[in-house]
Amino acid sequence: MPTEDQHPSIDPDRLHRFRLPDVPDETIRREYETCRKKYFDEFQANTHPIKPTPEQEQLIKEAIQQIPRTLDAYGILNADFSQRPLPKMFFLDRKDFYKYALHKELNTREMVTVRAIYDSTIHAFFMYLPKGRKRNERNEEILHHNVHELLHALSFRRLQVYKSKPGLEYGRTVDPQRTGVRMVPWGYDTQTDDPHLKFTDLNEAITEDLAIEVTNNIINAHPDQFRHAILGQIHVLLRRSRLKTARTIFVQDKEKELEKDGVPYSELTDRIAQSGYSFNIDENMFKQNYPKERKRFHHIIDALCRRTGKTQQEIKALFYGAYFLGPLRDLAKTVDGAIGKGTLRLIADDYFGDALTERLKQGETNKKNT
Ligand SMILES: [Zn+2]
Repeated sequence: MPTEDQHPSIDPDRLHRFRLPDVPDETIRREYETCRKKYFDEFQANTHPIKPTPEQEQLIKEAIQQIPRTLDAYGILNADFSQRPLPKMFFLDRKDFYKYALHKELNTREMVTVRAIYDSTIHAFFMYLPKGRKRNERNEEILHHNVHELLHALSFRRLQVYKSKPGLEYGRTVDPQRTGVRMVPWGYDTQTDDPHLKFTDLNEAITEDLAIEVTNNIINAHPDQFRHAILGQIHVLLRRSRLKTARTIFVQDKEKELEKDGVPYSELTDRIAQSGYSFNIDENMFKQNYPKERKRFHHIIDALCRRTGKTQQEIKALFYGAYFLGPLRDLAKTVDGAIGKGTLRLIADDYFGDALTERLKQGETNKKNT
């Protein structure tokens, strides 16, 4: 991938901190680099990655530039790829994606909806690219998955190396310790019900919310590369025009005008933008990643806004700050201060639990009573 060339080798000093008390850091680092290289050598020999189209390559570059610009609005600075290596990125067909990203047999009976995966232990991500599709169609989907995984890679904090449990093939195990707000315990054994795994759901909600926002920013800046998405969105707006909001009536009028004059749809979006109405691609167009997790996140944000009098932007900034910069202290202070002691712990451990639901509701009633 050309995007990777700017950072030909990984700088473990910046990305990886190893924890293994009885072995010098330098040894562990060398060992890690050797293993990573071996992994990719084998990967290259056994897979047939698909080359993205020039248009898609351009969009990936655009995504890398756009992420810090979007974060700027939340006061999050220095969250960009200038201080860390870009992850390796691979587009794979179904067979390779199942084997290398999902570690599953192609004929699995499980329903697979995952389309992209970031693997922090090798600092790389894999995206599934269905065959037989006009290559530049659905650029928005590819971009959206790309942004989502880039955010995981950008918020990845630390790798830990420790002695493996007795009986395992390798003497050492490598695990991520923290990605975004997600915390992984020592000796984590890919058991998703491990009670020491924290903030998994919140982490996906934050990642996806930001991914949609970044993707929309890019689409609005380059409407011509997203004809499919824009056309779909215009249809959504037209269907909603029964609701007679000012924007949908405006879109309806413009569409009639354009049909008559035979002007392309991208001009319609320009005119919508010029009119001062926002034109965001509906999140349904992105095939709905983590809808439940995001809905919960929005409930939490709403409750915090009600209780603190802060704006959505300000509350989101707190979550994003923890996601990219690390300390959870400010977030804990606000969340527990507004919704009750121990709320952040509930968000970490039992995101969909009744206790949390109850607390979020209490905020609603209190507001109504005042
Ligand atoms: Zn994710």
